[in-house]
Amino acid sequence: MLPWGRALRAAGLLRSAGAAAAAQCGAARRERCGPGPGKRRGTKLPAGPDLRHFLRGAAKREPPPEPEPGPVPSSGRVYLETYGCQMNVNDTEIAWAILQKSGYTRTKQLDEADVILLVTCSIREKAEQAIWNRLRHLSALKARRQQQAGSPLRIGILGCMAERLKEEILHREKLVDIVAGPDAYRDLPRLLAVAESGQQAANVLLSLDETYADILPVQTSAGGTTAFVSIMRGCDNMCSYCIVPFTRGRERSRPIASILQEVRMLSDQGVKEVTLLGQNVNSFRDMSEVQFQSAAAPGLSRGFSTVYRAKPGGLRFTHLLDQVSRIDPEMRIRFTSPHPKDFPDEVLQLIQERHNICKQLHLPAQSGSTRVLEAMRRGYTREAYLELVHHVRDSIPGVSLSSDFIAGFCGETEEDHQQTVSLLQDVRYNVGFLFAYSMREKTRAFHRLQDDVPAEVKQRRLQELITVFREEAARANEAMVGQCQLVLVEGPSKRSALELCGRNDGNIKVIFPDAEVEDAAGCQAPARAQPGDYVLVKVTSASSQTLRGVPLRRTTLSRSAAGH
Ligand code: SAM
Ligand code: SF4
Repeated sequence: MLPWGRALRAAGLLRSAGAAAAAQCGAARRERCGPGPGKRRGTKLPAGPDLRHFLRGAAKREPPPEPEPGPVPSSGRVYLETYGCQMNVNDTEIAWAILQKSGYTRTKQLDEADVILLVTCSIREKAEQAIWNRLRHLSALKARRQQQAGSPLRIGILGCMAERLKEEILHREKLVDIVAGPDAYRDLPRLLAVAESGQQAANVLLSLDETYADILPVQTSAGGTTAFVSIMRGCDNMCSYCIVPFTRGRERSRPIASILQEVRMLSDQGVKEVTLLGQNVNSFRDMSEVQFQSAAAPGLSRGFSTVYRAKPGGLRFTHLLDQVSRIDPEMRIRFTSPHPKDFPDEVLQLIQERHNICKQLHLPAQSGSTRVLEAMRRGYTREAYLELVHHVRDSIPGVSLSSDFIAGFCGETEEDHQQTVSLLQDVRYNVGFLFAYSMREKTRAFHRLQDDVPAEVKQRRLQELITVFREEAARANEAMVGQCQLVLVEGPSKRSALELCGRNDGNIKVIFPDAEVEDAAGCQAPARAQPGDYVLVKVTSASSQTLRGVPLRRTTLSRSAAGH
C-alpha cells in the first residue's frame, strides 16, 4: 500500500472493506493543506502532502457522531445534473440506481424536483466555479419554492467537489443539504433521510474497495447502441498537478466476473459498443480471484516509470480485454482513459489481433518537454513517449491516436511550450483534449512549485496548441478521404434529419446521407440504416473533427473484418 493511502485511511478519509462510517455536518474536520490559493500563488513551500501531513490531520480528528436517520422517504422526485468527465456520467447513473431502489423517481424537469443533486468535477478551477454559480441559482429557487408553496427542496453535491470542499460547501452561504463523496453513493438514501429532518448531512469517506460492482445496469447512450462500463476507480499515480488521487482515492479494480456479466447483459440488450471506463484503465488489477494473487507484475512501456513500487498479482488488463472481446464478435470494445505507462506488448498485440477491439488509443502526453514532464511527475521523457508512439504505430498499423495536453504548467518556458507544439506536429493526433493549467490545492505542484505562467500567457499558449492540433488532425483525417470506413450508426445527425451520424473504428464522427443501402450479405432488401447497424462508408471529405461520406452497404463487424 502507498504511504499516502495509509495516511488517508489513518486520517479517517479512507475506509476499508465495508466499513461505511458517515460524517454528519459539523462533525467532519477539515484537513488543512496550507492557505488558500490566493495566498499560495508565487510562494514556494518546502514540502508537499506526505504521510506526516495526513497523520497530523488524523491526530486532530474526532470520531463523527452517529447520525440519527429519519425515515427514508419512499417517494420523491430527483433531478440529477452532471458536470465533468465520463466517469461522472457513470457516477450519476450509479447514484440514480441506488436512489431508485429506495423508492425515488427521476425527473428531467427542474421545477418538479424534490431533490436536486449535482454530480461535480474538481479537476480545474473553472469547473468548480460553474458549480458554485449553479448552486446560487438553485438556492434562490429553493427559497422561492419554500415561500410560495411551503414545500422543501433539498440540494445535494456529489462527487469530486464534495470530496474536496465538504466544509466550504456545507457552511458557505448554507447552499446545500447533502454532501456525498464519490465512494459514498450507497449512503445517499440515509443522507437524504437526515436532510428530510432539516439537518445537513455529509459522507465523504474514501474507500479502498468500493467499485459499485453490483450496481447494474449503469448507462447506455447514443440511441442504446453504445454503453460505458466502469472497470476501476481511483488513481495511484500522483501526477504533481492532479487532484484526482485526492478526490477519488486509491486505485481499485472491479472483479472481472461482474464486468463480464454486465457486458454480456449489454450484448443481450443489443448494445454494439462498450467503452471500459476508469481513471487508469490499463492499470487494471483484479485481486478478487485468489489463484492469481501472486502473479508477476507485467512490464511497463519501455522507458516509463511509476512513483509506486511494481504491484504484483491479480488479473490484468490484457486478460480483461481478451475476455470482454470474446463475448460478442459484433460488439466494438474501446477503453478510456489509459496511462501511457501501461502498454506492454501483449496489450498492443491483442488490440491488433482482435477485430472487435478498436484500433484507437488515448495516449495522454500532457507536455512535449522532458523538463516539464519531470515536474509533472509523469514518469517518462519526451523521447520515451515518442518511442512508444512509434512502437504503437508499428504494432497496430492505422491506429488512431488521441491525447491530453496542459498549457502553462508551473515553470513552463516558451521553449518548453514549443516542444509541445512540435510533439503535436510530430505525432499528428486524430483527437485532442487541451487545457490551461489550473492550480489545485493539495497537489504536489500546489505545495512545491510556483504557478508562475501568467493567465494570459497560458491562454495564448493554449490557443496555439489548439490551432496546431486542429491543423494536424485535419491532415490526419484528410488522409482518409477516398478510403472506406466501417461506421457504427448512432442516429440522425444533429444538423440535418436527412443525414445519419456514427463513428468509425478510430472514434471519429462520420456523417452520411440517410439513404437506402444494400445489405452486404445480399439476404435482405435495400433499407435505410438504423442505430446499431454497421455501414461501410466511402469518405468524401474531412475536417479536423468530422468525416463525411457516402454509404456503400450495410454489413457486420465480423464480415467487414474478413474483408467482405
Ligand atoms: N488518467 C489520465 C492520464 O493521466 O493520462 C487522465 C485523466 S485526468 C482526470 C484528465 C485530464 O485532465 C488530464 O489528462 C490532464 O490533461 C487534465 N488535468 C488534470 N489536472 C489538471 C489541472 N490541474 N489543470 C489542467 N488540466 C488538468
Ligand atoms: Fe490524474 Fe491521470 Fe495523473 Fe492519475 S494518472 S494523477 S488521473 S493525470
